[in-house]
Amino acid sequence: MNPGLTTVSYIGAAILFILSLSGLSRQDTARRGNLYGTIGMALAVLATVTGAGVSSYGLLVPAVLVGSVLGWTLAVRVEMTGMPELVAVLHSFVGLAATLVGIASYLDPNAHFASPAERSIHEVEIFLGVFIGAVTFTGSLIAFGKLRGSISGKSVLLPARHLLNLAALLVCVVLGGLFLGSDNMAQGLPLLLAMTAIAAAIGIHLVLAIGGADMPVVVSMLNSYSGWAAAATGFMLSNDLLIVTGALVGSSGAILSYIMCRAMNRKFIAVILGGFGNAPASSAAAAGPQGEAVAITADETAQALADAREVIIVPGYGMAVAQAQGVISEITKRLRAKGVKVRFAIHPVAGRLPGHMNVLLAEAKVPYDIVLEMDEINEDFPDTDVVLVVGANDIVNPSAQDDPGSPIAGMPVLEVWKARTVVVFKRSMATGYAGVDNPLFFKENSRMLFGDAKKSVDAILAHLPG
Ligand code: NDP
Repeated sequence: MNPGLTTVSYIGAAILFILSLSGLSRQDTARRGNLYGTIGMALAVLATVTGAGVSSYGLLVPAVLVGSVLGWTLAVRVEMTGMPELVAVLHSFVGLAATLVGIASYLDPNAHFASPAERSIHEVEIFLGVFIGAVTFTGSLIAFGKLRGSISGKSVLLPARHLLNLAALLVCVVLGGLFLGSDNMAQGLPLLLAMTAIAAAIGIHLVLAIGGADMPVVVSMLNSYSGWAAAATGFMLSNDLLIVTGALVGSSGAILSYIMCRAMNRKFIAVILGGFGNAPASSAAAAGPQGEAVAITADETAQALADAREVIIVPGYGMAVAQAQGVISEITKRLRAKGVKVRFAIHPVAGRLPGHMNVLLAEAKVPYDIVLEMDEINEDFPDTDVVLVVGANDIVNPSAQDDPGSPIAGMPVLEVWKARTVVVFKRSMATGYAGVDNPLFFKENSRMLFGDAKKSVDAILAHLPG
């Protein structure tokens, strides 16, 4: 492909990525957004692979084939519940790629520079790219472990952690100065590798320090970092499309992190520096919620739904685990046909991925106009007859409002307890992701429908008058 055609393809791909992001911002245009993104990426890969920068296909073709087969297999196999871990792993790949490209581009024997200034600029790009890449790589691996449950979700707080981070950062700045001043590769490489090791440790430390309910911010923050790592790679390789794409991902991830922080009533900087999500338990939390939980059966729940005028369904992570969304959609259809007003209330951090519940409900063909965000519906609970809390826990926990010592204190929650009756679908009295007891289960108007959510909704559907 000649350079002119490559540039045109890059511009086309960049426009498609922008259209993709704007499409993905609304449920009814999300499919189209996804399609734009796919076409844009195919165009970008094709233009790069056939571009002037590629001189040999001996290694490239097998690498693209192996990558495509791996990506395809992962995408086909991954369950909706495994999606957050997959995203975290993919972020780590971007970080690793930026690190390796940076080191390789420093070692490149064919690199020529027109002036010492050009060389210095390239070395700054390398140093920054490798730093961001290494932080993203190890941070994403720790996030993967936390989301998967193989590393404890609690925050690990080393003594003087902020000082440690600051000291590590300062050492990296000093190493950067020495790196730029080094005369040859033999002097520069150990400095670059030392910084890589310190950046990797910063990535681990930063994400280990963030715990429990603050994990959504980590996921979106690493998304942003992976974008900046890609942009840095674009500078190192002089690839304009990679710079544009990286900047798009970096800034949209940063905006998402900001939105998540606002939704959780947290300060962005405080979350990044760690320490939230693991506040000392108050006496109330330590004692555990008092009272007795009252169980309800599926047919009693079906009867309550049939008698209701207004119903709100609150989906959470357990709905994704149970894959209950299809039957819930069927129940919704049945109730609406009988004239019951049914709506869905979506908490911004429900599930394990931003937009997790919206995707599942869209997949189950629940009409978009009855799926409402927390702010749009939170005031309507007092006028609601029945609320079904399907596999949600932290997002409906009243202690976020009532107990200042709770680890989730201050996080806005769906005020389901204000409805006439709340039915909570779960398998046990276990806590949710944040590991906090939930007094909702012991409220006078709460009923527990124990068991797998899919089995429970199947039984309700069977008992609902047709
Ligand atoms: P939670 O993790 O708080 O609660 C989920 C509940 O579902 C559990 O209490 C569990 O109880 C129940 N459950 C699990 N499997 C089933 C099943 N098969 N059938 C019925 N119930 C089931 O989820 P929420 O959605 O309420 O809150 C999300 C949490 O995850 C928040 O703390 C959020 O900060 C965090 N998080 C969110 C991310 C995001 O981007 N959205 C990313 C990372 C973390 P039991 O075991 O008794 O069945």
